Amino acid sequence: MTTTVTDYYQPGWRDQNHACPACEWQGSSRQMEMELHDEQTEYTCPQCEYPLLVVMHPSLQEVKAAADAGNEEAQQQLAILAMAPRDS
Ligand SMILES: [Zn+2]
Repeated sequence: MTTTVTDYYQPGWRDQNHACPACEWQGSSRQMEMELHDEQTEYTCPQCEYPLLVVMHPSLQEVKAAADAGNEEAQQQLAILAMAPRDS
């Protein structure tokens, strides 16, 4: 089963334990293989590459809302975005 995280800023998903249905592996996203896409990050089983976790990337509005709500990670991400060169 693949778990989808739609709210990036919900606490705890990084440390949540997942059991791979395809092999015997168990662990959290910190031990998984990470694959970065435009819209989402996929975490796959380090043993058999079964996709275990899909994390949807937050939109800029969601980053701003989380930063306003006091989320430190969101505040750091906003700071990074502010420094990034604009595509034009
Ligand atoms: Zn596996």
